[in-house]
Amino acid sequence: MTKKPLSASELTELIVGLNRLARNLWWTWSQGAQEIFQELSPRGWQNLYHNAVAVLHEVSDYELRVRLQDPEFADRVRQVLQAFDNYLKERATWCRVKAPSLVDRPVAYFTAEFGFHETLPIAAGGLGMLAGDHAKSASDLGLGFVGISLFYREGYFQQAINHDNWQIDYYTLLNPKNLPIEPVLDARGEPLVCDVEMATGQVYFKAWRVNVGRCPAYLLDTNLPQNEQHYRDLTLRVYGGDSTTRIMQEILLGIGGVRFLRALGVQPSVFHMNEGHAAFLALELIRENQAAGMDFEQALAAAKKQCHFTTHTPVEAGHDRFSPTLMQYALHRYRTHIKCSDEEFMGLGRVDPKDDEESFCMTVLALKASRTANAVSELHGQVSRQMWAALYPDKPVDQVPIGHITNGIHLLGWMKGPVRRFWRRKLSDAPSADRQPLAGETTSFWMRKPAFAWEHEVNSPEFWQRMDDPNFLSDEEIWALRYKLRRELIEFARRRLLIQGQRLSQGDFIAFDQLLNPDALTIGFARRFATYKRAPLIFQQFDNIVRLVQDKERPLQFVFAGKAHPRDDEGKRFIQHIIHLSKYSELKGHLVFIENYDVHVARTMVAGCDVWLNNPRRPLEASGTSGQKAGCHGCLNLSIMDGWWREGYDGTNGFAIGDDTHPASIEEQDKRDSANLYRVLTEEVIPCFFERDATGIPRQWIKKVRRAMVTLVPSYNTWRMVQDYTKKYYLPS
Ligand SMILES: *Cc1c(COP(=O)(O)O)cnc(C)c1O
Repeated sequence: MTKKPLSASELTELIVGLNRLARNLWWTWSQGAQEIFQELSPRGWQNLYHNAVAVLHEVSDYELRVRLQDPEFADRVRQVLQAFDNYLKERATWCRVKAPSLVDRPVAYFTAEFGFHETLPIAAGGLGMLAGDHAKSASDLGLGFVGISLFYREGYFQQAINHDNWQIDYYTLLNPKNLPIEPVLDARGEPLVCDVEMATGQVYFKAWRVNVGRCPAYLLDTNLPQNEQHYRDLTLRVYGGDSTTRIMQEILLGIGGVRFLRALGVQPSVFHMNEGHAAFLALELIRENQAAGMDFEQALAAAKKQCHFTTHTPVEAGHDRFSPTLMQYALHRYRTHIKCSDEEFMGLGRVDPKDDEESFCMTVLALKASRTANAVSELHGQVSRQMWAALYPDKPVDQVPIGHITNGIHLLGWMKGPVRRFWRRKLSDAPSADRQPLAGETTSFWMRKPAFAWEHEVNSPEFWQRMDDPNFLSDEEIWALRYKLRRELIEFARRRLLIQGQRLSQGDFIAFDQLLNPDALTIGFARRFATYKRAPLIFQQFDNIVRLVQDKERPLQFVFAGKAHPRDDEGKRFIQHIIHLSKYSELKGHLVFIENYDVHVARTMVAGCDVWLNNPRRPLEASGTSGQKAGCHGCLNLSIMDGWWREGYDGTNGFAIGDDTHPASIEEQDKRDSANLYRVLTEEVIPCFFERDATGIPRQWIKKVRRAMVTLVPSYNTWRMVQDYTKKYYLPS
């Protein structure tokens, strides 16, 4: 039986729907939606780097109309658009039940970086990824949420490696037309422009709206003709330029961000400063309060009532400090709007307000101007209370008012496509009509739409509990999935190396088929190459590691990736060292370095590796999140007991390097950790992975994979984390 062709208006409706869908990041965590764009242009999907907006530009309107006459395809498009609509309209959200006051008076979340997807590369690392994941889960939970950040039109740098194996940084201009962003317009349809006093002049800015499911994030942008060139370039690059650029970016973010929200008519119930970068927002709240008639003390107290602050790192360089001269230069015009003494003004950022020499610290400002503050893991909480104890001289260290909420990840956003399909199929095999609603859920669309049910289910601990049940999921299925994902990573690495290889001289070239072994225990390490993360630690025992990779029976291999900050030569030397080993040592073919680490590389690596290695210098990791992305893919963590892993590890769900202590001296620590790493690797990881039963399955290994799924995945995600923020900090106490 043939179906009636779609009418012109039906076609238009679907096409309008697809365009709307492409401009809402919801598609990045909906497998069904992603498959539509991928199917429209499989090669374009790959070449355009999974960019739905660009794919829709690639496929002509005429072609779209023709393609939609395939009834099966049109049917799927309709279903996805329906699910998208249901998502946007969903009334029975967690937030409506648990925090109704936050539905209409949103949380305003200020952050210097937002990492959403490889399509929009405007984040430098974990801080930005966390912010993006926070926004996605805020949307899923139905929380009122508005993100504020900057639109860096050259984003974060791209990494290439030159003949000396030295990192080269380069930048590419992002084209807003090809991005999932839309200009924010005023009532006349013109870009909404606000301004802020900065250094010698008035700086104007517009904004781009990113639709993150139900929530907007606004990216401020000074690239306007009415600004002088150096101000237009203020939003050129993530953390670009020197400390003058930095302070001005932060003035734009904090002060400009508040003004922009006011221009939109948004009245946040709470301002969340994600790291000290955003803390100038407190100045603008003080200014507003003074304009309403309060004196300085009252204005500060009132601002404080509205703010929450999250500190993200114990590393000193992560806390911005501006000299009094720079403060004077950048803020002297703005300063005239705040009625207070210089000591009061500068004192907002000083431990000792009377010390004229002390620089202005953004973390200090954030702590002084917030009602509550938190660190991002339990250990980081302890470290932070110690670190900032001088601000609270009348309190013992353990009563310094900095709590903690351990970080998480947005599960669906990080899940690799084949893994989403795997869980989707598993759930439709075993429909769980008897599933208990999630906390706060009443009737939900998942009950009516089984194809999308699992996208809800994936956040429920009960779902992950079932991974312990071999009747629900067999060892063989898990092992087959692991093989599929490892192969995908290896083929991805080979393809990338081939492309990277074109820039190398002949002799450096590694033959495609000699690169990596699909049967080997694959260990991954990828993150920013900050030196405290000690990327090359495992190669300190070089001869031993060579022996391990050359073991024909129990082969081991390594995949590395990561960017060093453009001004961090030490980090670049780490990269050089590792690439050198991968090309010229006995590790050749068993160790690869994938250039240009980003969200896509991260997702492919956490999915494909068997073991995710993390060996930071304790206690500097704060939380770490990349290891949290491993669990749902069946990858196990091998990590120092720092940050989240110190809380997540229970002896059955992965591997620990060392214990809950560390020596005071760095040399001592490096030596001890390197020895422990090697010991765990040879005594626990390798034997467990290669112990196969008669049918060839590593039963004990898979048991650990199950334990990781049961114990880690339902806790270390932003579905839990954003609920914690809401209950503990966002709701008025
Ligand atoms: C997850 C992630 C990070 C954070 O990794 P950590 O190991 O927590 O430092 C950084 N960059 C990218 C691209 C990521 O996906």
